[in-house]
Amino acid sequence: MSTLEDSAQRLRQLAAELGHLADRVESGDADRSEFDVLVAALLGTQHDRFGPRPRAARGEGAKARILGYLKARIGEEVHGEELRLVSGIQEWARRVRELRVEDGYEVAQIGRSTYRLESEVPDKARAQQWELANKTRRQPGNARDRIKAFLEANVGQMVTREQIDYVSRIAEGSRRVRELRDEEGWPINSHIDEQALEPGEYRLLSTDPADRRDPLQRLYPDDLRERIFERDAYTCQVCGRDREKAEKAGDTRFYLEVHHKVAIADELEALPLAERNEPANLVTLCHSDHLRETEKLQRGKRARRRSAQAD
Ligand SMILES: [Zn+2]
Repeated sequence: MSTLEDSAQRLRQLAAELGHLADRVESGDADRSEFDVLVAALLGTQHDRFGPRPRAARGEGAKARILGYLKARIGEEVHGEELRLVSGIQEWARRVRELRVEDGYEVAQIGRSTYRLESEVPDKARAQQWELANKTRRQPGNARDRIKAFLEANVGQMVTREQIDYVSRIAEGSRRVRELRDEEGWPINSHIDEQALEPGEYRLLSTDPADRRDPLQRLYPDDLRERIFERDAYTCQVCGRDREKAEKAGDTRFYLEVHHKVAIADELEALPLAERNEPANLVTLCHSDHLRETEKLQRGKRARRRSAQAD
């Protein structure tokens, strides 16, 4: 702990720096990070002089202060530094996690250290999902195994990128989700496939191997798929169903694929990009109609081959 003179000197120095900052604020040049530095220096001086905060001030009280602060700013971005100050504890990030996982508050994390409370009311189903995420996170195996387990436990439910990163224990867990989709054919919708989803939200539709996605869908870039789905109003152009209609009729496995009207599977990869990605050649189909259409095209091709051989 520092001597009284040290602390007093440090405070006077900070006072002078605060004075400079005040000038810069007045002239409109100051930015937020300058405040952060001075606030941190002030807290450091407090710590040097008085030591750590007494135990009694930790725990639930800090969590309640964080919640109160977030609730007063619903929908607004709040910097982690503010939460640290409000809570007065070093483990404030853990308390934010508890608000999510144990209490079901929808606290979004934006970037490294910015948070946003989305709604004043906690969501119990969400809390359960986070609880499950917490359990899955502690399972052995690699990141992909844990993501699989979490998605399988949430078939038909929306899960967030944040949850996926959390259970996978890696940043970029969403990249593993894309691999599951593109390499293993898991039918996982994102905001590209489904209007009800926001960016960073995913939904696994089925674990049945029969519902695996057409592996060639990976050939179409996301922006192209989105363009085609949007053009076709997210509606299968054969059966006329969209997700809402399919769900109402009890088909929860419904999802969309891009179908190439001209080329069939084994020709698609060889096709020049411009031809492959020509929107006029592409149409939105549901997965089951896509299977049927592909089968039809293949039968036609076999028949043509046979008649060519007969000539
Ligand atoms: Zn269909």
